[in-house]
Amino acid sequence: MTRYHIVRGDITKLRVTAIVNAANEDLRSGGGVDGAIHKAAGVELQKECDALGGCPTGQARLTQGYRLSAEYIIHTVGPVWHGGDKGECALLGACYANVLSLAVKSSIGSLAFPAISTGAYGFPKDRAARIAIGMCRLLAAPDSPFSEIYFCLFDEASVVLYKNCLADVL
Ligand code: ADP
Repeated sequence: MTRYHIVRGDITKLRVTAIVNAANEDLRSGGGVDGAIHKAAGVELQKECDALGGCPTGQARLTQGYRLSAEYIIHTVGPVWHGGDKGECALLGACYANVLSLAVKSSIGSLAFPAISTGAYGFPKDRAARIAIGMCRLLAAPDSPFSEIYFCLFDEASVVLYKNCLADVL
């Protein structure tokens, strides 16, 4: 049985098996949550990312967590929002599906997501929240190995949004 937690704060501080990074296709350290993760994990992370040769939008790649409390980082590349008619919703859904699939393969018990694509990539926060929670509810089925899924948010408005959204689907 998967338990859901909605928390406010810095994802790099969470004590979970894996945190998810909202990365870019080059897997090069950037701004936002990606920059915070690279800074906290240390320079070894970029070396492992360089060896992976990038990650297309919607897909996911696993690395070690290095100096983080989390053992692993799952990097996924969210879509840039172009108004909604360029497949953005399906691509964001694919991010969550591919992260969950990789987490199952790697026997990851607890996993924390940031609000992928909702910063520099401009995805509307309410739609992104519905996709995040909807995909996790669909794919982290009662018989899945996940014990805990965290949604780690940076602002109070997003916390309220996610709580309302989770209440709607439970
Ligand atoms: P993207 O390029 O996918 O939009 P961003 O990093 O710009 O990624 O933003 C994604 C979300 O992560 C935003 O809602 C932002 O507020 C949030 N965020 C930024 N830093 C952190 C952090 N350290 N921990 C958790 N969330 C963060």
